[in-house]
Amino acid sequence: MGGMMNDYTRVLEATEQHLQALKAGGVRFLTVEGETLRQLREAPPPTAQKKQAPSDKSDKSDPSDPGNTEPAMAALRARAAVCVKCPHLAGSRKNVVFGVGDIHAALMFVGEAPGADEDRQGEPFVGAAGQLLTRIIKAMGLSRENVYIANILKCRPDTPGQRAGNRKPTADEMKTCLPYLLEQIDLIRPKVIVALGATAVEGLLGKGEPIGKLRGRFQVFRDIPLMPTFHPSYLLRNQAPAEKRKVWEDMLQVMEKLNRPITAKQRGYFLNKSDTV
Ligand code: URA
Repeated sequence: MGGMMNDYTRVLEATEQHLQALKAGGVRFLTVEGETLRQLREAPPPTAQKKQAPSDKSDKSDPSDPGNTEPAMAALRARAAVCVKCPHLAGSRKNVVFGVGDIHAALMFVGEAPGADEDRQGEPFVGAAGQLLTRIIKAMGLSRENVYIANILKCRPDTPGQRAGNRKPTADEMKTCLPYLLEQIDLIRPKVIVALGATAVEGLLGKGEPIGKLRGRFQVFRDIPLMPTFHPSYLLRNQAPAEKRKVWEDMLQVMEKLNRPITAKQRGYFLNKSDTV
């Protein structure tokens, strides 16, 4: 049987086991978010999977075959949508925030974790920091639709006893969730990854150095050039044009790496105090 079929079967088995465990523990009713149901409905049924060549014994779809990327990503999304590896997060989340954009994108942005807005809408970077990220992407001559955006954590870090605010994901949460992101990266195979903020860099590269020191210099992650830069929420807190220019210089390097044309206007952003994006 092909790898995709195994993926799908694993999701069903994991779901069934989880439901049985809940039932054994006395749970009789479940609340399921509409978004979760929608994502489950989107997962391709096993019969619709692309047949693997008889010689292919591997359990994983071949990401180098473009025809496999969509079903493989849908199966991964379906697995993440029912993930209960961090029971405290599975219990507090409204949505699993998997990722958004073009799964064949050359450029991928990786953030930290969903906040309240993202948890509510099931999409990464839709709050204030997300709107700034969207403007940065547009300034690069791109759009949210032709890049891919994801986070280290797919669930919002819970804040028990707090009515507002966010918290940094723990090392354990990041380690537990990282395999989903690694599979996303392996399926997308972007030409460049941008890691937004210190936590994203820490989650991917294991480097705990200040982001101010790391930013602006390409690293390599899974053979892919990775540019660390400030998180957009840092720019919301610190509006100094000099700080915006630093992020913009990082993005100019990314555009160069992608061989994207850069206009004189783009080269000059944030050199004048009045510049905005
Ligand atoms: N901050 C992040 O790191 N990710 C989001 O999705 C939103 C805010």
